[in-house]
Amino acid sequence: MDYTFLLTWGKDNALTVAAVLITLFLIYHYVIERDKGVKLSKKYRHSIFEAQSRIFLNATQYLISGNKDLAIKEFLSAVDLNRETIDTYFALGGLFRSNGEIEKAISIHRSLIARESISESTRLQALKELALDFDKGGFIDKAIETYKDVLRINRDQQDVITNLCRIYEDIEDWDQAYNYRIMLSKVGPQNQSETISHILVQKAKTLFENGQYKACAEELEDAFRFAPSVSAKILRLRLYIVMGKMEDANGLLLELLKEHPMYATFIFVSLDGFNKKLPERAEYFERLDKLKHYFLGLDDVDLMGAPSVVLSKIRLLKDLKKTDEAMSLLDGWMKGHGQSDVLKVEYIKILIEVGRVEEALFHTRTLLETLHSSLTRHYCSQCGYNSDDIFWRCPQCHSWETIQFRWKV
Ligand SMILES: [Zn+2]
Repeated sequence: MDYTFLLTWGKDNALTVAAVLITLFLIYHYVIERDKGVKLSKKYRHSIFEAQSRIFLNATQYLISGNKDLAIKEFLSAVDLNRETIDTYFALGGLFRSNGEIEKAISIHRSLIARESISESTRLQALKELALDFDKGGFIDKAIETYKDVLRINRDQQDVITNLCRIYEDIEDWDQAYNYRIMLSKVGPQNQSETISHILVQKAKTLFENGQYKACAEELEDAFRFAPSVSAKILRLRLYIVMGKMEDANGLLLELLKEHPMYATFIFVSLDGFNKKLPERAEYFERLDKLKHYFLGLDDVDLMGAPSVVLSKIRLLKDLKKTDEAMSLLDGWMKGHGQSDVLKVEYIKILIEVGRVEEALFHTRTLLETLHSSLTRHYCSQCGYNSDDIFWRCPQCHSWETIQFRWKV
């Protein structure tokens, strides 16, 4: 027996099913309340019920015949706005939104807002739903505007502020993102210091890329007041380099590596990024070279146990054409640890380069047996989002500093 047609029918007719359920719900309420109704006379209540069931039965008819627009009209023309009808509106609006029929959801919520006879709390709820419609539909400006309207009525709306934070971070409007994070920290129970620090670092980064180092340093100080994030420290390191404070730069690099050895490769990739149009360009890269040599000279047992640190050294040595040194570093690593696919690949590449083909083949075979292959360089440890780019804020789950690196096939 093949039941797939039932599933398909169910999918296509979700709204019909919902309308029938809503009608049943109203009948149920009518029956329950008929027995305990005290305020309204039986006759009056009965006429309300009849009017409502007629509307919903008509709507159901339209839905069954596939005419959703007429169905909505029928719903919207409900004469009586009691609590159940309002709930029905909200249920239907939510249904349309989750079904991707944003315009219908919008028209339902707008018609609710326009009603004179509803309470202020219902109007606020409808306004919030409308903002969610715009948000889901990708009408960013309207979503922002409507969320702000909600906050004008009631500032204590954690979910609304959270949504505004997400939108402003998405469009990289860091000033507004900062303002709403601060607001969120006052309303919500969660500490927002880490995220505020990240946002300030983003602002500072823009200043850095425009060569406004003084303003950048000030913004960065602010970031540190909230939390010393990895990205804040990396930017401070870049500032030290551009200002020629090499003692400080060496110290900070060592501190960063000891605190976050897994970020070593990102640190060096970030340091290599410098706006080539800026006049400080030549000095910057000259000093960066010095910092890299300082790093290559570090011989800390703890540090050299971290794959990302070793990989950074290998890459720098290869850039400097110091293949022998890279080779002996990898030889040592493979004897001691050997538990990193990324480094094994580097090892195989270098073995081929120096002509140790037999060994290269041997290691390729062991690698293939254990390989967890992947298509991207980086991924998010929270949600698994994949990307070749470095991301400090995951574009998918919006977490900060969850990036991890792996070997790209
Ligand atoms: Zn993520």
